[in-house]
Parts: sequence; C-alpha cells; structure tokens
Amino acid sequence: MANPEKGISGGCYDAIVLGAGIQGTFAAYHLAKRQKKTLLLEQFLLPHSRGSSHGLSRIIRSAYPQDYYMAMMVESFHLWAQLEAETGTKLYRPTPLWVLGRQENPEFQSYRKTMERHRVPSETLGAEAFAQRFPGFHLCGGEMAVSDRTAGVLCPDKALQVLQDQFRGNGGTVCDGEKVLRIVPGTVVTVITQKREYQAKSLVVTAGAWTGPLLAPLGLHLPLQPLRITICYWKENRPGTLEKLPCFIGINLNGDKHHIYGLSAGDYPGLVKICYHHGNPVDPDSPDRLNQSSLPVPDVQILRDFVSKYLPGLDPEPALQERCLYTNTPDEDFVLDHHPRFRNIVIGAGFSGHGFKFGPVVGRILCQLSLGETPSYDLAPFRISRFLGRPKSTL
Ligand SMILES: Cc1cc2nc3c(=O)[nH]c(=O)nc-3n(C[C@H](O)[C@H](O)[C@H](O)COP(=O)(O)OP(=O)(O)OC[C@H]3O[C@@H](n4cnc5c(N)ncnc54)[C@H](O)[C@@H]3O)c2cc1C
Repeated sequence: MANPEKGISGGCYDAIVLGAGIQGTFAAYHLAKRQKKTLLLEQFLLPHSRGSSHGLSRIIRSAYPQDYYMAMMVESFHLWAQLEAETGTKLYRPTPLWVLGRQENPEFQSYRKTMERHRVPSETLGAEAFAQRFPGFHLCGGEMAVSDRTAGVLCPDKALQVLQDQFRGNGGTVCDGEKVLRIVPGTVVTVITQKREYQAKSLVVTAGAWTGPLLAPLGLHLPLQPLRITICYWKENRPGTLEKLPCFIGINLNGDKHHIYGLSAGDYPGLVKICYHHGNPVDPDSPDRLNQSSLPVPDVQILRDFVSKYLPGLDPEPALQERCLYTNTPDEDFVLDHHPRFRNIVIGAGFSGHGFKFGPVVGRILCQLSLGETPSYDLAPFRISRFLGRPKSTL
C-alpha cells in the first residue's frame, strides 16, 4: 500500500533551484551548462509579475561605491554579452548613467573614487554644465554629476524568457505553478511541493521576498525585509523634457535618505520612470496590506517633491504607479553563502533592490558553491556570519 505521508516522487536531480527569478534562473542556467541534471521550481505560472524580476527596464552600470561590486560587474557585463550572442537577442541598450550628488557627500565621493580606481570611462559636470547638457534638469549650486559611460538598460522580461529557454535547451527542467512547502535537509536534500517531492544532491534557494520563511524551519533566521516599492511613471507638461532626461541616480539630493533614480526606459511611450530606492515593509503574499507596526514611508510624496524641484518640466503628479518587491538586508549587501549547518543548501538572497545587473555572475557563484567549488571572488561581504549576534539569529 502507498505511504500516504510520502508524496508522488518527482525524481532525483544533481541540483534543484528554488525560485525562478533572475538569480535562480541564472544559477539553473549555469548548472545545466555544466551538464548537471537541474530542476528549476517556481510557485507561480511563468512568466509572472509578483516577485522582483519582471518588467521592461533595469539599470546596469559599473558605478558603485564599493570595489567588490565593481569587480563583479566586469564579469557580469561580459556574461550578459555572451547571453546576447548565444541567443541572438538584444537584452541591453547602452546609455550613460549620471550619478548626481553634492561634491562633499561621502557616498558621492566614494562613487567618484571607485570609478577612478577602476578606470571607468566617465565625465564630470558641474550644475551649470549639466543644465546646458540636459535642459530641464535643474541641479542646485554645489551639486554635480559624474557619468558612467559603460552603463545601460536591461530588459528583464526578455532576459528571463531567453534564459529559461536556454536552460531548457541545455537539458534543464522547469516546473512552474508548483510551490515549495518544505525542505528536508540531508546528504540528499528533499524538496516537498504541493504536487510532488524531489530529491537532489544540492539545493539553491533563490526565493526572493519569500526566502525568510522557507529557511526559518531549517534554523536560519536571516534579517531579510521584503519591501513594497512604488514604481512611478511621469509625463511632461513642458514639451521636450522627456527626450532630454538622462538615466540618473541622485544621491541624497533633496536631503532624501535613499537614492532617487530615473530613466526614459520606454516602458510606456510618453512616460519616464522615476522611483525612490526604498519602500514599505510588506508580506509578499499580501503586498496590498502595509505592515502597521512602522510609520509608512511617504515614497510618492518624496518623488513629487523631487520632481517639482529638479524636473519642473514634468507633471508633479505620477501618471501611473506600479508595484514591485525588494528584499533588503540591513547593510544592503547580498547573501551568497552555504547554509551554516547544511553545506549542500546554498542561499542567494537579500538583493536589496540592486541585484538584477549581477544576475549572470551571482548565478555562476551560486552554481560554484553548490558544486563545492571556491568562487574567484572574496565572498566576505556576502557571508551569513556577518549577521551573527543579531537578536533573531540562530546561526
Ligand atoms: C522596481 C524595481 C526596480 C529595480 N531596479 C533595478 C535596477 O535598475 N538594477 C538592478 O540591478 N536591480 C534592480 N532591481 C532589483 C532586482 O530586480 C532584484 O534584485 C532581482 O530581480 C531579485 O531577483 P531574485 O531572483 O532574488 O527574486 P525574484 O525575482 O522575486 O525571484 C524569486 C522567485 O522565487 C519564487 N518563489 C518564492 N518562494 C517560492 C516557493 N516556496 N516555491 C517556489 N517558488 C518560490 C518567487 O515566486 C519568485 O519568482 C529592481 C527591483 C525592483 C522591484
């Protein structure tokens, strides 16, 4: 007689990747390219827009205040280009990114110094020269702009689609509409979904905003905070403002705690995207309900104030609003590590609203960790042990 406790067997794999966002899909792609029998599991039917990796635009750039991210971007640009060549698909539109800030702002200075050290092709403009180049964008006295000429805009929807096709083409299996309910650690990991149970030598967990509750039963309480981000699109009220809007990141420009970034991405003809790089804590399963325990972040009001002051040619009321999820760590650095007790469970999480551009290199690192290899990067900034001693941590 069949054991009712035991689910229908879905088979045995070299590796299972849990979560088919950009990080999980890239990890699965690298594993399949290494001839590993790989299963990619996704709770929603693909494609979907309920996580962090959907849409039509993500900024890719070399510019970072930290050397370790800049070093990773060299390989990431290379791997994005490789994927374009492999699939014959254009995934990236080059366009300079302007980092805007006050000259004395420590973070702005870090951007400039790191870009200089890594010889990123760039240009520096004061407020007046910037206004001549981009009429309609009003920087204030003492503010300046430094460009990253390697930057561009990626198309996430297209990237995920071609990547999942490539994964299948390399022998990988995708099971979507199949939520993972439980992970049973062991020399062979068992993954139990609503429909079946699977086994694998290793498991890569890339579950985005859902990662925390999946790992808690394994004794790992990572400080991951899902945030609801409001994506705002704006229309011009002064003709010509839109075509001249550069891709930019403003560092504390209006005294704002978090960055404001913008791009004329073409997501919606006649509109530009300008967003606040922060949001409100939510449960990813009910993103409409805000967490009552904290004061709401007035993200849209912060953007209205910014647009009125810096881009007066735009209508200061957003024409369209959409939602997306970030999963933030306290230091906004990623988590790329083994589970501290179960070495064959590898975790890629906490991409804190800046992980898309790193997808190819993050995927490769997760693939290497799951195969027991040592990646060529110093992973110290991404280790779980940095959270040791935090109140909820049981590492
Ligand atoms: C509005 C916005 C703008 C951004 N802009 C940029 C940018 O310009 N540049 C940049 O580099 N980055 C940017 N980012 C960040 C980047 O998009 C994210 O860091 C990245 O997409 C995170 O990918 P992920 O794979 O970790 O998460 P996700 O894409 O959320 O993938 C996780 C997947 O796991 C699945 N899953 C979860 N639980 C289960 C389960 N139990 N069973 C099965 N499946 C499960 C989910 O359904 C989901 O599909 C932006 C993000 C947002 C929201």
